[in-house]
Amino acid sequence: MKPRSFSFTTAHSVEHVIGLLQEHGDEAKIIAGGQSLVPTLNMRLSAPQLLIDISALDELRGISLDGDRLRIGALTRHVELQSNKLIAQHLPLIASAINHVAHVAIRNRGTIGGNLSLADPASELPACSLALGAELSIVGNKGKRIVKAGDYFKDLYETDLQANEILVAISFPLATTNTVHGFREFVRRRGDFASCGLVMNGERQDGKLTSLAPVFFAISNTPVLASKCAAKLLNKTLNDDLIEEALLELDRELPVIGDIHTSTEMKLHLAKHYLREILGEINV
Ligand SMILES: Cc1cc2nc3c(=O)[nH]c(=O)nc-3n(C[C@H](O)[C@H](O)[C@H](O)COP(=O)(O)OP(=O)(O)OC[C@H]3O[C@@H](n4cnc5c(N)ncnc54)[C@H](O)[C@@H]3O)c2cc1C
Repeated sequence: MKPRSFSFTTAHSVEHVIGLLQEHGDEAKIIAGGQSLVPTLNMRLSAPQLLIDISALDELRGISLDGDRLRIGALTRHVELQSNKLIAQHLPLIASAINHVAHVAIRNRGTIGGNLSLADPASELPACSLALGAELSIVGNKGKRIVKAGDYFKDLYETDLQANEILVAISFPLATTNTVHGFREFVRRRGDFASCGLVMNGERQDGKLTSLAPVFFAISNTPVLASKCAAKLLNKTLNDDLIEEALLELDRELPVIGDIHTSTEMKLHLAKHYLREILGEINV
């Protein structure tokens, strides 16, 4: 199918984007890598009158250290995350997850900003953002605001980002020598969206976990932080009994929704299996 006809503008500054969003309201849409938006236009699931191309905004690019955090510009493409040395050194969780995001052609154009703006519940990067305690920099007509990832994901494809705002950057705390992490996902074909996934980030000292953020994705409308399960595992020596007791919390706290490919029971089974595996892996 072909999209409805639309106007197309190349933005020359963030202020220009905000002005256009203000002027055109719901009729305007930002386009970054276009990897999700263009298919929805072609299928006429979305029919904006104006596309605002932000790809010329160099201020939205780049990966840089900012004190004890790593700042990633919204226009940073997935392929750049894969090859960047700062990511490999300071964000090992993202370094492992990014290889599982879509296919090469999509990673060559898709951006982290587009990915987090769309907030597909089966996406890897929203889950990583939540597990890592990311902060999102958002600019609108009232200026800039910072939103913690824990407050950002609201519901299915619904975030705290408003229609007249633009996501400009995401910042992440740096991994330390105590950081532990893990990644698992179940996909029908490599590069497809997951049917169930887990990203986990935490800190370990003297053989005990002092913080832990297991975040499940592709199981519900948003990524889900299993905080009650994590609490059971903190500041204790991990053993099989403790892990099995903690896994029981997942029955209570994961709002699992099955889909046509993977039942609720299967997703819950995978969620427990993956957490058990990762805990075993970090406990050696
Ligand atoms: C076949 C296929 C398989 C895929 N598999 C996966 C997968 O396994 N895992 C995964 O995570 N992703 C997957 N994706 C999605 C892809 O990786 C991109 O992350 C996604 O397309 C969004 O990035 P983009 O730059 O292309 O955004 P666009 O398509 O340009 O935009 C997406 C949405 O975000 C808005 N937007 C974009 N940038 C901003 C911004 N800076 N501020 C505010 N709003 C903005 C747009 O208005 C639009 O609504 C897949 C896509 C396809 C087509």
